Amino acid sequence: MSDKTKEFDVIIIGGGIAAHTAALYTARADLNPLVIAGFEPDQLSLTTLVENFPGFENGVDGPKLIENSKKQAQKFGARYIQENADSFKIISGGNKKSNLFEIEAGGKTYRSKTVIISTGASARKLKIPGEDKFFGRGVSTCAVCDAALYKGKITAVVGGGDSAMEETLALYKFAKKVYLIHRREEFRASKIMQDRILKLSKNKDKLEIIWNTEVTEVLGDKKVTGIKIKNIKTNKTSEIKTDGFFLAIGHTPNTSIFKNEINLDKEGYIITDKLSRTNIPGVYAAGDVQDPVFKQAITSAGAGCQAAIQAERYIEHLKAERKY
Ligand code: NAP
Repeated sequence: MSDKTKEFDVIIIGGGIAAHTAALYTARADLNPLVIAGFEPDQLSLTTLVENFPGFENGVDGPKLIENSKKQAQKFGARYIQENADSFKIISGGNKKSNLFEIEAGGKTYRSKTVIISTGASARKLKIPGEDKFFGRGVSTCAVCDAALYKGKITAVVGGGDSAMEETLALYKFAKKVYLIHRREEFRASKIMQDRILKLSKNKDKLEIIWNTEVTEVLGDKKVTGIKIKNIKTNKTSEIKTDGFFLAIGHTPNTSIFKNEINLDKEGYIITDKLSRTNIPGVYAAGDVQDPVFKQAITSAGAGCQAAIQAERYIEHLKAERKY
């Protein structure tokens, strides 16, 4: 049977730790899941050492954790295709009355009785002049990926959360100087990450924190040459020379294809109940796409497990009701 006509029990949309965990559980439950993993790398694939995933005394490399989780799911029969999901539709279950879902990806149509949405979240941008123009030419959302390109150069990071701390630490290893620019005078990041940064910033020549400041423009010719900044308290504007500008101001959930069918909160996160259920029976969500609060690797993995168990129970329920 071709993918065009085949109806799956479970389709998982996404390629991060929540998706791989859901794939592992549903594969082990003999539900033959199809994982539609998009092209955008997941958060863990863009990180280096993960120190807070239990079971790894000395930490674990983020991309390795993802690769291993995928292989583990595949070992139990999960099938993967690498395509972006372009659309999501609820279609009638016909006489059987249960929902059926249709997903288009890479020009093909896939149908499933249940769907687990784990599409994650994408890096936010400031929407300031020069940001798009110089994206990939000095503007980046992933210092961990690009840090080595900035050996001996000047760099600037914007943000005050754990991502900003992590980006700054990544750049610190290579760059001549890192500016860390934050709009308040207190970081949001976890204490351990803040402490690392504050300690390193004692050497201002190498790491300088600029508080109460926003970035208003990215400057450049062929590539980034500097940024314009404004102190929020004094309104004083100035320019900083920099070769790289790194955005670390959080993420926006990837929910655009679901917004007509699935209930979202005001920030665009999928609303789920304690049992990972969305407003549509048979559709579950797990990971950063439904979690505006914790957003940790371990909570995403846990959510993927929950959603998988729920999908399995739902399929069992359909069988018992003879709607299968
Ligand atoms: P976040 O915690 O939401 O922090 C975003 C930061 O960007 C905040 O400091 C925020 O400022 C600032 N910001 C937001 N919009 C801005 C704007 N328009 N202009 C200027 N600044 C702006 O996001 P995150 O750092 O990506 O972290 C997300 C989650 O992942 C967190 O739960 C974090 O703990 C987790 N994480 C963990 C690790 C780790 O454990 N190693 C690493 C990375 C991420 P305000 O503070 O003023 O709101």
